[in-house]
Amino acid sequence: MTDLEKIKDDYRSFDNEQIKKIAKYESRGLKQNVVPILIEEIVKRKINPSLIEWIHAERRVLSKVELEVLKSKVKKLACILCKKSRDLRGYHFETKTGIMVNSYTTEYRFIVCKGCGDQKRNKSTVHSLALGWISPVSFISYPFLLAKKVNIYLKEEIISDRIIENFIKGNIGKITLANESTEILKKLVKDYNSLHMSSMTN
Ligand SMILES: [Zn+2]
Repeated sequence: MTDLEKIKDDYRSFDNEQIKKIAKYESRGLKQNVVPILIEEIVKRKINPSLIEWIHAERRVLSKVELEVLKSKVKKLACILCKKSRDLRGYHFETKTGIMVNSYTTEYRFIVCKGCGDQKRNKSTVHSLALGWISPVSFISYPFLLAKKVNIYLKEEIISDRIIENFIKGNIGKITLANESTEILKKLVKDYNSLHMSSMTN
């Protein structure tokens, strides 16, 4: 039995819920030759046909131009924090907190305007400076964290670009099905930020 036949057999043995789950959450990562098997099962079992549309949307490969268009659309959205500024950027930084022997790092990723993003990052730097040195562990690693921060400043543009690109690719199914509308981009940026900002110190 070939690998593909084995997969076919497996898919046939899955129940409807398993098939739905694969279509909803795993279709992006499937090998190209497995996709028709999945679609066949959806058709055969008369499961919601919109799942097929979703599979194609999730698996959409963006051309360079399409990606650039989407990136500029995201950048032109109004910032969800100040509601005013546009020209959004992707931010990624860490806040290191050390209390006695416990030291932990919190990672942040979000898409906001430069004013709001810089403010958040400065707060994180102050927070790290105020608390990051207390624990012996973070005391040792602190110079590395500082070096990393300097590095991040230098690579700001590249990082911002990468975050927006990953945001688009990670949401391509929803963006595609909503015809790349401003509304869906706004909603997804909001979700992305609240997911990654939840533990942000104010
Ligand atoms: Zn803002």
